Amino acid sequence: MKKYTYGKQSLSFSDFYNVLSTLKSPFLTCGPKVKEFEQAICDYTGAKYCVSVSSATAGLHLAMLAIGIAKGDEVITSPNTFLASSNCVLYAGGTVKFADIELETANINPAEIEKQITDKTKAIIPVHFAGQSCDMEKIHEIATKNNLFIVEDAAHAIGSDYKDTKVGCCKYSDMTIFSFHPVKTITTGEGGAITTNNKELYEKLLALRSHGMHKDAKMATTWEYEMRELGFNYRLTDIQAALGISQLKKLDKFKKRRREIVEYYNKHLGLPNLIEKDFSNACFHLYPVMVRNREEFYHKAKTVGLNLQVHYIPVHTQPYYKNLGFNEGDYPSAEIYYKKCISLPLYPTLSDRDLKEIVKRIKDIL
Ligand SMILES: *Cc1c(COP(=O)(O)O)cnc(C)c1O
Repeated sequence: MKKYTYGKQSLSFSDFYNVLSTLKSPFLTCGPKVKEFEQAICDYTGAKYCVSVSSATAGLHLAMLAIGIAKGDEVITSPNTFLASSNCVLYAGGTVKFADIELETANINPAEIEKQITDKTKAIIPVHFAGQSCDMEKIHEIATKNNLFIVEDAAHAIGSDYKDTKVGCCKYSDMTIFSFHPVKTITTGEGGAITTNNKELYEKLLALRSHGMHKDAKMATTWEYEMRELGFNYRLTDIQAALGISQLKKLDKFKKRRREIVEYYNKHLGLPNLIEKDFSNACFHLYPVMVRNREEFYHKAKTVGLNLQVHYIPVHTQPYYKNLGFNEGDYPSAEIYYKKCISLPLYPTLSDRDLKEIVKRIKDIL
């Protein structure tokens, strides 16, 4: 029996060719492919600047440092997300606040953000769940009124549109973070990127990515450099960037197929799932449905060759976060959503035959 997972990478000859050519080139890292990939992301999203990084987690960490998050600062994010969206605040020494989700989209609810704002709040990290953009105009309005930064966690959302803009253009935010982990829409193995339109943030991110090292024009012709802050090695290699370049070229095709699959499931399964808002044209990363008995469904699915996944265990219910003072019941919508959600297979290499087969198997176990 053919097995299906909820998501996986889509690689083809052009990807293999690009990676092999880079392996034969003089630069395995810190070379031209990294810059070419960053420029391609700028061209695609419409952002002015891009800094590639070793993962989205690294990108979120640098973003928090670049806006100066430190002890005593509060940052608001969604509880329905991967751990990295809130862990990055803790890395920087800040305090995490969650704002509950809206059930229609499983995205952060702007009205709930407003309730969490105090005089210590410094930033909001909206997470574009399953690839659908949050209501950025509303969130931007709240941020402007309260003088807050916005860092978009777009780990799910490369290729997605919000109104007439690409997610990542940073029209409504200070920075946007993408992930290129193999389960995400395009991959570099591990990897991520930060986009911004702010030159000052861009320069801070560049330095922090590489040990806080600076090289001025007058140092450029010598061995000299200065370390002015404590940075990291969060660089992407040229091998990874080469893969990213060829993957990005296929993104619009991936998006088309992902949307076709979502439509197919909507039509042939009719299970309750996320509602796409008018402002969104999502490059869907996940297809979560709600089922009555999620536990039973998960195990039955396994017996018919479907290895599904749950997105997400609400972050505030993790033991580490409970130790920080959060409790079960703090964010009821995220918890209600979690109890019923399960993500079905969604990746561009699924054929029409695969889809027919998957729908048949699901109907058999419902
Ligand atoms: C995958 C993911 C991340 C982390 O991405 P990495 O590249 O694996 O570090 C962050 N946020 C969300 C919402 C994710 O899904």
